[in-house]
Amino acid sequence: MLERIVLASSNAGKLRELRELLAAQAVDVVGQDAFAIDGVEETGATFIENALLKARHASRRSGLPALADDSGLVVDALHGAPGLYSARYAGPNASDADNNRRLIAALHDLPKPWTARYHACIVLLRHAEDPCPLIAEADWEGEIQANAAGAGGFGYDPHFYLPALQMTAAQMPGAQKNRCSHRALALQSLLQRWPRL
Ligand code: IMP
Repeated sequence: MLERIVLASSNAGKLRELRELLAAQAVDVVGQDAFAIDGVEETGATFIENALLKARHASRRSGLPALADDSGLVVDALHGAPGLYSARYAGPNASDADNNRRLIAALHDLPKPWTARYHACIVLLRHAEDPCPLIAEADWEGEIQANAAGAGGFGYDPHFYLPALQMTAAQMPGAQKNRCSHRALALQSLLQRWPRL
């Protein structure tokens, strides 16, 4: 059984969601900042590679099992951008507002609907050299809307519109986002294998 794991992220929005999603598990979840672990260079070509890089780095530095999420927004009309570069779309130290401005500028002249999805890859490494990581991935389909709406969530949520619900991810109560988001679905899938650890 896992008793304590390190969460390989310093993104406050992601950490909040992952902690809420893991609240029912009998495991002590510690953010990597508690060990003064810095971010690792995300040199992978896929979400899976980057999630593994982050988890291995955090596990090596902390000596604990590590859970990492690599996620991003994939926009069809932009050939999958911002994709792996979602966090730094507008530059290395870009804020959410900077990234959202660049996204809407890039889409401005393109025909609507601007179909898109969030993708999440979550991995669990039992130790830094674990050759058999648990890996789960999920998508959350939506559309980009030009005008921002809502104050919840983080990142691109004010522009990520769910046509069936007629609201953006930022207009959703947190508990609702945690039932249907890419991160929630990927984590649920990973948790089905969790008790066997
Ligand atoms: P990562 O920390 O390298 O995985 O980058 C994730 C980036 O993808 C975040 O900084 C956001 O820009 C975007 N992202 C991932 N999940 C979400 C979400 O649930 N809402 C909004 N933006 C997200």
